[in-house]
Amino acid sequence: MTEELRGIRDSGRYVPIRALQSPQGPWVSIGGRRVLNLCSNNYLGYANHPDVKRAAIEAIEKYGVGAGAVRSIAGTSELHVMLEEEIAAFKHMEAALVFQGGLLANTGTIPVLVAKDDIVFSEELNHASIIDGVRLSSAKRAVYRHVDMDDLNSQLTQHRSEGRRSLIVTDGVFSMDGDIAPLDKIVEAGEKHDSMVYVDDAHGEGVLGDHGRGIVDHFNLAGLVDAEMGTFSKAIGSMGGFIAGSSELIELLRQRARPFLFSSALNAGDAAAVLKSVQLMKSDDAPLKRLWKNTEELKAGLRDAGYDTGSSRTPITPVMIGDEKKTVELSRMLYEEESLFASPIVYPTVAPGAARIRLMPSAVHSSEDIRFALDAFRKAGSKLGLT
Ligand SMILES: *Cc1c(COP(=O)(O)O)cnc(C)c1O
Repeated sequence: MTEELRGIRDSGRYVPIRALQSPQGPWVSIGGRRVLNLCSNNYLGYANHPDVKRAAIEAIEKYGVGAGAVRSIAGTSELHVMLEEEIAAFKHMEAALVFQGGLLANTGTIPVLVAKDDIVFSEELNHASIIDGVRLSSAKRAVYRHVDMDDLNSQLTQHRSEGRRSLIVTDGVFSMDGDIAPLDKIVEAGEKHDSMVYVDDAHGEGVLGDHGRGIVDHFNLAGLVDAEMGTFSKAIGSMGGFIAGSSELIELLRQRARPFLFSSALNAGDAAAVLKSVQLMKSDDAPLKRLWKNTEELKAGLRDAGYDTGSSRTPITPVMIGDEKKTVELSRMLYEEESLFASPIVYPTVAPGAARIRLMPSAVHSSEDIRFALDAFRKAGSKLGLT
């Protein structure tokens, strides 16, 4: 362990983990200082929204704090059922199942869809929880190149017959780059090659589509995607995850998904908070518009300052640096000298040599906050000779 830790430090990939002393928001307190927060996934500001907090508090008063059991024994509350109905309706899907987190939704569902005799076509930049889900399934795996439909189609032609069932699995919005999977083309490929399609929409939900309904709505594909996975921990501001799909898929997951059967249920406070956030999303898309306005201002300002923001088409704004040590140093300078909290993203989260600072604007940032961030990047970048 000593050697392994030294290796991480020597490679410049050691990431300091800071503890917040305040709620999530545009500004946070860390170590007694107020810093501008540009690295949380709290896209719509619901993590500290008064109505969402009140819903959680009222649910705790009514239902207590702990679910007390796994969903399949005594842990299912009427709140989970209401939430599942709300999510299915919001997503225009037949049914939905709530999990304790997005990671568990992925690792729990993929092994129900495919097993040893089956094959998975997995996009190369998929989230770690998809990769783990595929590993747990024991299915054969073919990895296709990032958003490369020619490669997906040729791999399907070559390898589809090696599996009984077949599943194409992709992130909707790629979490480290902010680009979008061509889901319409993926659905076509799935139809052509008799493969199910599974999309992880952790960063599309609350961000893409009508009122933030996500990537399936963005491409108008309701009913054509077999499983849409989402998380409640990002735009929705709380905790938990879900799968939306056909009634049969959801029924099967209730009997087979291991995190549903073997890990205790989501707590009432979280379930009620999520329910309230979804109701807010449906009733008012002003925060969504604000999020996109902030995104555009931030990206344009960074480009003007000479930074490369990669291929992002969403609020996820990677500031591409490349070198790990420089990236960690830039983040440290932004934090210590400019009061800007923006974590470095290095290997193994991204490929070696592709280090970056990933900025996450939100609906609760003001235009002044965005200008503050751009100013900080200009100053720290010129000190480091980056721009
Ligand atoms: C964050 C994330 C997850 C995990 O979601 P949690 O609810 O935080 O467990 C899964 N997939 C992707 C693409 C993510 O970005």
